[in-house]
Amino acid sequence: MNIFGRTKEQLAAALKEHDIPRFRADQIIRWMYRRGAVSFDVMDNLAKPLRAQLAEYFSIERPKVVSRLHSADGATLKLLYEFADGQTAETVLMRHPYGNSVCISTQAGCRMGCAFCASTLHGLQRNLTAGEIAAQVIGISDFLRTEGARVDTIVVMGSGEPLENYDNVIAALRLLHEEYTIGLGYRGVTLSTSGIVPGIERLAEEGIPISLSISLHAPTEELRSQIMPVNRMYPLADVLRAARMYAQRTKRRVTYEYILIRDLNDGVHEAEQLANLLKGQLASVNLIPINPVSERNLFRPDKAAIRRFQKILEERHITATLRREMGTDIQAACGQLRNRLMEAGL
Ligand code: SAH
Repeated sequence: MNIFGRTKEQLAAALKEHDIPRFRADQIIRWMYRRGAVSFDVMDNLAKPLRAQLAEYFSIERPKVVSRLHSADGATLKLLYEFADGQTAETVLMRHPYGNSVCISTQAGCRMGCAFCASTLHGLQRNLTAGEIAAQVIGISDFLRTEGARVDTIVVMGSGEPLENYDNVIAALRLLHEEYTIGLGYRGVTLSTSGIVPGIERLAEEGIPISLSISLHAPTEELRSQIMPVNRMYPLADVLRAARMYAQRTKRRVTYEYILIRDLNDGVHEAEQLANLLKGQLASVNLIPINPVSERNLFRPDKAAIRRFQKILEERHITATLRREMGTDIQAACGQLRNRLMEAGL
């Protein structure tokens, strides 16, 4: 039984079944989450027979890093993790001037079918477990600690739809919040969703003050349904209502992601429609010029069109930031690295 990803309480309960006293959980947890142990052998404050006993019942194996890519400027590191059953997922470390941010995946593959996204090209393989989600961050945290640095913020924006794997995602965030792991502040977490309305409503009641980001990408029902099939299940109007409720309930500003795609959603008309849609809300728009994915026929607008779109929003008092690009030279766009390796038969 792999116990990586358990809380201290859960571990203590598992130990109890084998008559191992509770204080051992403190020791093991420390090794597992703060000292990078991947086997019981190294736990030199436990007697040898106990280590052997533990190894008989449990493992603390972590996902393996099977590919590691550094961007030329050194600011971005992309990892491909492989889990025990051979499934893979990507994780990205972004070194910003204001701190280190980790972008995590929540599913192997994705079933949402968004037109612009590489993660969904091969469908959904499975949900990641809480341990597999947390391990992506803890692995990077261990590595940063060797430089005297730490993980400051997390964006749940990698492959997969986090609100379709709700329980495991929340369990992972709660685990990462514990002081015996990385003591992550919830205010440093941003979760991005394609708009799963019941999930947004549940998250509003969860009592953890994380920021919500909505993948909007179109200002009308018709266009959004064309780009994001999920809109047929949860229409734009309902998503916006849920997002407004989330902002009110948590007093956190909601951000809307809007990928700019040439001749599809980047026109003056769409910018005006978007401004009308968001008028008077505690909200801001994050404009993302599309990372073209070779399998899709979607292209990036030119600089003038991007600027024009942003200006229309600003003139209508909607805060609109342009996402800073990082790691395009290392396929840091969702799912691109994983696909390349899957297609190469790896
Ligand atoms: N399923 C969740 C989280 C993963 S996708 C969601 O839909 O929000 C998160 C974000 O990845 C998208 O909103 C978009 O900002 C970004 N993204 C995906 N594919 C992209 C592409 N080809 N170019 C630019 N951004 C992309």
